[in-house]
Amino acid sequence: MTKRPFSPQSLLAQGGSHSDNENGVIIPPVYTSTTYLRDDDNQYRSGRVYSRADNPTYRPAEKLLAELENAADARLFASGMAAATAVFQALKPGDKVIAPKVMYWALRKWLQTFGVDSGLDVRFVDTTNLNELRDAIAERQPTLIWLETPGNPLWTVTDIAAVADMARNCGSLLAIDSTVATPLLTKPLDLGADIVMHSATKYLNGHSDVISGALAAREDNAFWQRLVAIRAQSGAVPGPQDAAQLLRGMRTLFLRVRESCQSALYIAEQLEQHPQVIEVLYPGLKSFVGHEIAVKQMQGGFGGMLSIRLAGGEKAAIAVAAKTQLWHRATSLGGVESLIEHRASIEGPDTPVPLDLLRLSVGIENADDLLNDLQQAIDLAHS
Ligand SMILES: *Cc1c(COP(=O)(O)O)cnc(C)c1O
Repeated sequence: MTKRPFSPQSLLAQGGSHSDNENGVIIPPVYTSTTYLRDDDNQYRSGRVYSRADNPTYRPAEKLLAELENAADARLFASGMAAATAVFQALKPGDKVIAPKVMYWALRKWLQTFGVDSGLDVRFVDTTNLNELRDAIAERQPTLIWLETPGNPLWTVTDIAAVADMARNCGSLLAIDSTVATPLLTKPLDLGADIVMHSATKYLNGHSDVISGALAAREDNAFWQRLVAIRAQSGAVPGPQDAAQLLRGMRTLFLRVRESCQSALYIAEQLEQHPQVIEVLYPGLKSFVGHEIAVKQMQGGFGGMLSIRLAGGEKAAIAVAAKTQLWHRATSLGGVESLIEHRASIEGPDTPVPLDLLRLSVGIENADDLLNDLQQAIDLAHS
């Protein structure tokens, strides 16, 4: 592996710089053109024909993500879901898929409906239980294993290196939704995964104002080229303005993630002491089931996401979310502003999420302000 001279912090801070020196700019331009010139001899040597397939505005963010993930290549998509579903669209009818029981609910729903309708044979297993996973792999000989770690919204941690060994032994592809870990805290490709996926809507952009997604691959092989072709042919691309805004967001990723991780750990440790909180789910807590694996495969922090379970059940959880003043009551995660959500309400009746659970996305506000606001809301809901 080639040695990189700069740390992720420096790469991010200057993300995209010097990519266009024709006009002496240090920030890359936004290319709004929907079409590209042919060469004199009718060729398209630039590789670009029409902007439904590709746009040079994407390249700085794609190169930066590829560098951070130690990937051969990366591509932006219209959304995290567009990126994730491209991976499943690249499979063939009859292909067997193993996916986690605890995962991003909209993707689980897509797999159960469109994934199955398109001929995929999908099995959901507890991927944190390596024995259960080993049995499922032996029985099914999957084409693709999909993991999400930490898994939304119980933050279950799956041992990527252990699953990568199993995948290699049975010839399966391994893809990881690493949205919550960000490219800073976990390197799935270094641990043996083939594909890493991000909802760039979340931490990568970080300001709750761009919908985007990304895939990155360990090798530029036939499967990767198939994913590139799916994006181009289905037009699953972001707008160029969004891609430029995403790059701007990425330049502060390091600072935002560091702050969120520190505050999340602090809030998790404090709330663990609260009499009205029956459980705090956070990979950074020693009491958390997946803590040891998290220590092994996460560096620099345990992420900005945690969930709490309230002694008063669903009613208390909804009441707490209603009584916060600083935390916004909204879905999504990974932005600079902290969000609180009663998760079961959005996931519907077949959710594995307990009714008493609140999901917290810790932003970059003052950690004591965030903690005090939660404590007063819990006290008010209880009184
Ligand atoms: C939000 C999210 C997605 C979907 O991404 P979108 O950009 O909303 O399409 C996928 N996985 C995880 C873990 C997410 O949080």
